[in-house]
Amino acid sequence: MRVAEAGVTRHTLTYRCPIMTTHGLITERRVLLLTLTDEDGHTGVGEAAPLDGFTPEGIDEAEVALLAWAAEDGDESLVDSPTARAAVDAALHDLAAAAAGVALHQYLNPDSPASLPVAALVVGDTPDLLAEAALAATTGGHRSLKLKVGALPISDDLERVAAVRRAIGPEPAIRLDANGAWSPEEAPGHLERLAGSDIQFIEEPVSGIPALANIMHVSPIPVAADESVRTPFDLDRLIATGAADLVVLKPSAIGGISVAAKWAARARSGGMAVVVTSLLESSVGIRAAAHLASAIDALDPAPGLATAGLLATDLGTPLLPEAGFLRLA
Ligand SMILES: [Mg+2]
Repeated sequence: MRVAEAGVTRHTLTYRCPIMTTHGLITERRVLLLTLTDEDGHTGVGEAAPLDGFTPEGIDEAEVALLAWAAEDGDESLVDSPTARAAVDAALHDLAAAAAGVALHQYLNPDSPASLPVAALVVGDTPDLLAEAALAATTGGHRSLKLKVGALPISDDLERVAAVRRAIGPEPAIRLDANGAWSPEEAPGHLERLAGSDIQFIEEPVSGIPALANIMHVSPIPVAADESVRTPFDLDRLIATGAADLVVLKPSAIGGISVAAKWAARARSGGMAVVVTSLLESSVGIRAAAHLASAIDALDPAPGLATAGLLATDLGTPLLPEAGFLRLA
């Protein structure tokens, strides 16, 4: 396979509602689309989607890196830009799969499934509205839900989570994400009380690997590391200290699907489960992550890839769940 042409274009994603992240509210977002074409006319696409607080680089640095790579300056230009690396990695794999005439997940692993369950992120201003949204998601086919906690007093979180559990019944899985909001002192008590709602796992109840390691030993709810793991060194430290039961991997933030596959293998050999999630990027990036999740069998817990519905402006064909599943082609 030889790349005959490489194009880099800028796009603006917009969201249906402002999205609250740990680093503020986002309403729109600039991303880069890398399109590669081979001599036979096959194409492959990849996305670079820098996000404040999640990636070291911004859009300008990612663009410089991609343009330098496209001008055949080699991979060195990508060193400081994990999002540009992710775009190149996805586009090259997508192109290779297209040239081979198979879906990307099959190119990566011939035995992987074309359909994968995804967890739905459920939001609502009141316990009733949240429970209503949760019920809509489960009757719509989702078997796993994700709820954000930690932004409100714990009494409100307890009420909200209990309302959801009551509404959806005992079967669907509920995962929580506190985004590191709680102190090491208050977290054990909060987890103890939330456990009554039968929680599958909680992301970042506290912030930082040492604090996660401490909470792991007392938490009645399995603990997942997310923001506390940014580098391969963090991952090694997480494994060495047994600081989590699971690790959340965002291929778009850490250098792409190849890097995510390596991290997943390391985490698993260290006894941890992996959850592949999006970075609230466009369907180009979500699609690459979904193919990876299928290929490495990271389907339980269900990947957090049901985020295309949050976008008002997407790139390419929106990858939206149908009956709780993403279907890959
Ligand atoms: Mg998280």
